[in-house]
Amino acid sequence: MILSANGTPIEVAPTPGPSTSVTTSNTSFSYCPQVSGDEVLKCSFPHCSFTTNNKQKLEFHISAHTNSKYKCPYCAYVGNILTDIYRHIKKSTKHDGKKVFECKIHQKCDFAIDCEKSFKEHLRLKHFREDTPEKYIDGIVEDLFLNKPTNGDDPNNK
Ligand SMILES: [Zn+2]
Ligand SMILES: [Zn+2]
Ligand SMILES: [Zn+2]
Repeated sequence: MILSANGTPIEVAPTPGPSTSVTTSNTSFSYCPQVSGDEVLKCSFPHCSFTTNNKQKLEFHISAHTNSKYKCPYCAYVGNILTDIYRHIKKSTKHDGKKVFECKIHQKCDFAIDCEKSFKEHLRLKHFREDTPEKYIDGIVEDLFLNKPTNGDDPNNK
């Protein structure tokens, strides 16, 4: 009579046979394709020097161009709050010497000023009437900063 291993438990590795086909559900890891550092994507908007090698970043950036309500009249800066644009023009060193409000009502008018109140006064006195409704003047001012489509072929753009 032969006694097998004296009380010593024998560790047996599970034999990977056909009967023990355990499907490991833990293999679903996402494989992200590597972005090649060579490819530089450029923003196609005029005056914009934005570049990235991430396509999603570029798409997000471009959507900001097109979806923002207001735009700096001097560069590609955009924003949804009018006072943000005012602040940008005043603060940006790119726009040294530029005024926040440039009158474009009349081609011959080169009035420009930083003060919104004075600008509205100018509009009333020079181009409209003193009793022009405030809302109308506000609309004129807002229009100077509206982010309009850059391509002039828009049929809705009269
Ligand atoms: Zn851009
Ligand atoms: Zn600007
Ligand atoms: Zn004017």
